[in-house]
Amino acid sequence: MTHFISGRTPTTNAEAFERALVVTPGGVNSPVRAFRSVGGTPVFLASGHGPYVTDVEGTEYVDLVGQWGPALLGHAHPDVIAAAHAAVDRGLGFGAASTGEVELAELVLDRLTLTPADGPERRGIEKLRLVSTGTEATMTAIRLARGATGRPLLVKFAGHYHGHSDSLLSEAGSGIATLGIPGSAGITPETAAQTIVIPYNDEDALAEVFAAHGDRIAAVITEAAAANMGVVPPKPGFNRLLADTAHAHGALLIADEVMTGFRSTAAGWWGLEEAEGTPYDADLTTFGKIIGGGLPLAGLGGRAEILDLLAPLGPVYQAGTLSGNPVAVATGAAMLRGAGPEVYEHLPRVARTIADGLSSALSAEGVAHTVAWAGSQFSIFFRDTAPQNYAEAQAQDTWRFGPFFHAMLEHGVSLPPSVYEAWFVSAAHDDAAVERVLAAATPAARAAAAATPAL
Ligand SMILES: *Cc1c(COP(=O)(O)O)cnc(C)c1O
Repeated sequence: MTHFISGRTPTTNAEAFERALVVTPGGVNSPVRAFRSVGGTPVFLASGHGPYVTDVEGTEYVDLVGQWGPALLGHAHPDVIAAAHAAVDRGLGFGAASTGEVELAELVLDRLTLTPADGPERRGIEKLRLVSTGTEATMTAIRLARGATGRPLLVKFAGHYHGHSDSLLSEAGSGIATLGIPGSAGITPETAAQTIVIPYNDEDALAEVFAAHGDRIAAVITEAAAANMGVVPPKPGFNRLLADTAHAHGALLIADEVMTGFRSTAAGWWGLEEAEGTPYDADLTTFGKIIGGGLPLAGLGGRAEILDLLAPLGPVYQAGTLSGNPVAVATGAAMLRGAGPEVYEHLPRVARTIADGLSSALSAEGVAHTVAWAGSQFSIFFRDTAPQNYAEAQAQDTWRFGPFFHAMLEHGVSLPPSVYEAWFVSAAHDDAAVERVLAAATPAARAAAAATPAL
């Protein structure tokens, strides 16, 4: 019989990965972490502070993954950690209602309420139900949409990622895009047939799908701005067209703000489009990542009459042993309280400096590329023009990314290990951190220039 307990924590990335491969599929607990698309041994992280993370070997990196979003204020922000400690000291969870859940919901609803000087109050959501992951939030949003409309079909966009529930993996972004697979095994044809996938930013495809199936469509689900196939923002007014088209046919719009929520602006992507004069009315909005401040927490919000269809008031069932966990809601609330206007001014500035520096270095080495933007989020595509949909996002020199990624890593910068992921900056990315990223730009650009496509 094999005994795994050696009593010793791995001290190198190689040893950690070797041991992980024995006990965990692919050595990781979420696929993109495995470095499959960039090659090499994944880095096992031991700690993070501000804009930096440190691996088990003691090597420090400027971090542009940001926990895939939650690290809005940087790693281990003192106020967030203090809130977590205080909550932990009161107990880890009760499986009963607790006041932190109310406070977090109030914070979120406040952020999603805008009072323009020259118009009526605008509310992005009226009620919020807390769950533990973005996957649960979107899964529940779909069930609610079906419950509210009594209709079966769901429309999603190719390249959009909404978590890993059965109905949402067809032609999805994130890990599905990274691994270059069309979807997932283990999903019944009956389930897959309930999801219609159309190209993003395509008004004609949208009109056609509603002309053909309009009275059977429960909802359109969209990333408020797509950022799981690289960053591909909606065309101006596209979200409004989605809302109007859905509503004209008695269907709902689900805006997935799991990534953009509390990042694009204090009020997420919804707030950005309100400010830019292209407001849209989503019926349901999903949140994750930042809302938990780094702990497992997510939520779905929307119009009260729809949210009230959830149990215990209504017939749509949803529940969770760990939902609204008191430590997670305290951490999330501390993060939201800590993210004032200065944070939302800092993020685009620092993102712009990093992107410009990398872009100049790539240009100097003659590497065809473009930087795509959605608010303060960006990603680099190895093609000349910014893509508008998944097919265009895939039509790039993806083989340049692996060498680029590894050169950055060697020079102390940790990027998302996939060409299809957005890069995350934080309020903690100061001049020193940015300088370290820019110092890595030229070697990384040279590595990208020297790359050759796999045969
Ligand atoms: C990350 C993400 C999800 C899934 O959230 P998990 O917490 O990983 O389940 C859903 N939608 C979008 C837009 C995301 O970026």
